[in-house]
Amino acid sequence: MNIEVVTTIPELFDQFMEYGVIGRGIKAGKIHLNLINIRNYTHDLHRTTDDYAYGTGIGMVMKVEPVFEMFDEYLKNHQRPWVVYPSPQGEIFDQSKALELSKKTDLMFICGRYEGVDERIMSIVDEEISIGDFVISGGEIVTMAFIEAIARMIPGVVGKAFSVENDSFFSDLLDHANYTRPSSYRGMDVPEILRSGNHAKIGKYLLKDAIKRTIGKRPDLFIKRDLSVEEKAAIIELIREKKEC
Ligand code: SAH
Repeated sequence: MNIEVVTTIPELFDQFMEYGVIGRGIKAGKIHLNLINIRNYTHDLHRTTDDYAYGTGIGMVMKVEPVFEMFDEYLKNHQRPWVVYPSPQGEIFDQSKALELSKKTDLMFICGRYEGVDERIMSIVDEEISIGDFVISGGEIVTMAFIEAIARMIPGVVGKAFSVENDSFFSDLLDHANYTRPSSYRGMDVPEILRSGNHAKIGKYLLKDAIKRTIGKRPDLFIKRDLSVEEKAAIIELIREKKEC
C-alpha cells in the first residue's frame, strides 16, 4: 500500500516510521510511506502555508495554492489516491473504517494545522475522518493513529495474524484479559486454566472472558453483535457458573 502524508512538519513522523508495526511494515515492503512537505510548494521566502481568515480575520487558515500545486505535481506521476482529510468534522474513525481503508492501494492524508484548511481544499478530498469529539492542533498525530490502525489490517504487517484477530473491536468483542510471567505477583495470580496447557478449555475460557468484558464495559457493542453458536454456548456456561456461585 502506498501512503502519502501531506504535512508542514514531516519531522514528526521520523520516529513513527522507524519503530514497531509501521517500522517493520515499511522494512518488509508492505507499506510505502512517503512524506510530502507542503512548504516545498510555496513561493515566498518564509515558505508560508497559512494566512488570515477571510471575514473574521481571527486565526490562521491553511492556504489553498500549495496544496493544489502539490496535488497537480503528484498526479503527473501517480494514479489518483483516496484523499483523507483528518478533521473533527468528519465521521468518527473505527475498526471497520481501518479495514475499509486497508484495502485501498493509494491513500493520501492531508494534515491540517491552525484553524483548519481553506474550504476549497475539500474539492480534492474524498473523505473527512475524525479521531473523536475533541480538537487537537494538527492532523499529524491523528494521521499516525489512523495509519497504525490501517497497517495492522494489512495481511503480514502484524507478525501473527492471531494477535490482530483477538484485538478489541476486530469482531465487535473486546479483547480478553492478558497475562505474562510471573504467574503470581503480590498476591495476584494468573488464572489457573491459562497455565493448564489445555487449549480447548483455554479457548472457551478466553471467549467467555471477552464476552463478560464486552457486556460489562461496552454493552453497546454487544447489543449490535450477531452471536455465533460458540458464543451462545459460552453465555449459557457463564449463566450456569453464576448460578453455581
Ligand atoms: N477549527 C477546526 C479545527 C482545526 S484543528 C474545527 O473546529 O473544525 C487543526 C487541525 O487538526 C485540523 O485541520 C485537523 O486536520 C486536525 N484535527 C484536530 N482535531 C481533530 C480530530 N478530532 N480529528 C481529526 N483531525 C483533527
